[in-house]
Amino acid sequence: MVFSILGIAAISSVLAIISNNSIDRIPRNQSIIKPEPYCRSCATAFTWKDQIPILSYLMHKGKCPYCGAKIPTRNFFIEIGEFAWVSIFVLKFGWSYEAIIVLLFGISLIAIIAIEYENRVMSDLILLIMLMLSVIFLLAYRQSEFPNALLGMVIGAGVMAVYNFMKIAGKTVVRFDYSEIKLGAVLGLFFGGFGIILCIFLAWFIGAILGSVKIKFFKKDHRDAIPEFPTILAIAGIITVLFNTELTQFYIALMR
Ligand SMILES: [Zn+2]
Repeated sequence: MVFSILGIAAISSVLAIISNNSIDRIPRNQSIIKPEPYCRSCATAFTWKDQIPILSYLMHKGKCPYCGAKIPTRNFFIEIGEFAWVSIFVLKFGWSYEAIIVLLFGISLIAIIAIEYENRVMSDLILLIMLMLSVIFLLAYRQSEFPNALLGMVIGAGVMAVYNFMKIAGKTVVRFDYSEIKLGAVLGLFFGGFGIILCIFLAWFIGAILGSVKIKFFKKDHRDAIPEFPTILAIAGIITVLFNTELTQFYIALMR
């Protein structure tokens, strides 16, 4: 029990530091590895003491300990979010290699959402990491489901392609965003045919709720009120990561 808590703290800390660093640097085309994490304002390199997730942020009241510049609140949210994610995961799936792959897939989705939310770009690097995780997951644990995974990939890519056609037809954009199609494809590959349909349905449902909440409170016109679908799809992906197995089993049980 104690070891599990220590393990969760250690893993989520490392993942939070890597995530925040990646979310900061990938959209700026900077190296993730060098230099060490530093303050964006005074450029002082942070020591390990300044980087303890959640605690360091609270101790310094969200400010750089050297110059007092504000550290983005997002860092703190990622630290809390990933701690919660790892905790839920270990409680649900225990410690196994299989669970770790799925856990990392979820962490990648968190990074995708944060980067998309802050910069309005989808990170191809993180999509590539997700592709790698999907392939490892399939080859190691789901070899019999290979055709289903390919079907999921086609469905996911297809839905995002249709979404892009609709955007072009609606004149909100002028060209295809291939990264969005890649996101659909990689989610489909990971979840399989049934999982991706579930994920898309969930995204549509979340989008409808967010859309109506926005209309109600911000009095915007209809089109403005609809949040970016790829971000919502990634959020739905996180939920699907947690419950895919149950839902697939439920589905199989229904089919019997
Ligand atoms: Zn500073």
